[in-house]
Amino acid sequence: MKENIYDPIPGSTIFRGISNQKTIVMAANTRIATVAKGIFKAAKDTDSAVFMELARSECDLKGGYTGLTPKDFSERMKEAARDVQFDIWALHADHITIKTGDTKEIEGTRQLIDAQINAGYTSFAIDASHLFNFEGKNVREELEPNIRATTELALFIKGRMKGRDFGLEVEVGEIGRKDGHGLILTKPKEAVEFISALHENGIHPHVLAIANGSTHGHTYDENGNVVEQLSIDIPQTKAIAQALRDNNLNVGIAQHGITGTPRDLINLHFPKGDIIKGNVGTFWQDVVFTTLKVYQPVLYKEIQEWTLAKYRAANPGKKDSQIFDGNCKFAIKEFFKDLYAVDEDTENAIQAMAYAESLVFFKAFGSYGSASRVRKAVANNRP
Ligand SMILES: [Zn+2]
Repeated sequence: MKENIYDPIPGSTIFRGISNQKTIVMAANTRIATVAKGIFKAAKDTDSAVFMELARSECDLKGGYTGLTPKDFSERMKEAARDVQFDIWALHADHITIKTGDTKEIEGTRQLIDAQINAGYTSFAIDASHLFNFEGKNVREELEPNIRATTELALFIKGRMKGRDFGLEVEVGEIGRKDGHGLILTKPKEAVEFISALHENGIHPHVLAIANGSTHGHTYDENGNVVEQLSIDIPQTKAIAQALRDNNLNVGIAQHGITGTPRDLINLHFPKGDIIKGNVGTFWQDVVFTTLKVYQPVLYKEIQEWTLAKYRAANPGKKDSQIFDGNCKFAIKEFFKDLYAVDEDTENAIQAMAYAESLVFFKAFGSYGSASRVRKAVANNRP
């Protein structure tokens, strides 16, 4: 039961509400939670459904690199939603990553999921895409370790949710993985084989993350300058969506690593409705740091110096700007108190910027009006 009408709703409810629409739901990784109020306010004003999420690396039982445990994250997101009075959102566990699949890792993962469920999460992304059998004789054999780990954890979540609905995202093809020729992309056959196998195991995910040419974080040129990300392979993404549809697999695509992709390109060329969830993470961190640079120059300089002192040695030959850009996320925990104790002017500026940028994302994603469609779907489902 929802304790409050502004508490998160099941991710599955949102996916049902937007099915067969040209809509991508934004999933915001709010590493510094201050941006959440601006995002929720924009969601409310544009009537857009939204996900709030953090990955395992960002938020775990020890606080991840953001300093937030699942309970802390949940409380901050709920508080922001209540302040703004926004109701159509899901609390999502992004990248519950499995890297080895051994007993110890699975056990730690179960503890994390338990904490997320106790904190009121309503949606989960199992990412066992690192598990790949390179000796497999066919696609099914190659994907077998991923299928096994994903099934095990999905069943665990289902059991722990005790009949409550939840959103489920799974992943095939490691995002950002490269070989000698560049980024490795997921093939339509792999996506179909993976989801079919999960169905056979009684697992029916709503959304599938694929490797389609994006990377997490910023994209750099050969000189280490941040550049636009133009690498998402749209024809391949459409081909995967079509293959899934042809096989009646009823699953949408999650686009990870959107930061840096021009929003006019998203607006005009992303296959909305094939892609149904769009993750935006680093972008929100940029909003905070861009604001701090002007409003809190002393704090900003301290963060910069700490990051460079800590990460310069491990990045020989790289420019300071790129070292800072790539590693400033690790300063969030170190400067946690300062980041959450900024004055009202700074907070207002961060939230206003998060608000304006969210408007542009919701527009580019075709999200306007999606919250009402979800509300309608909820009403129609009532007995
Ligand atoms: Zn991701």
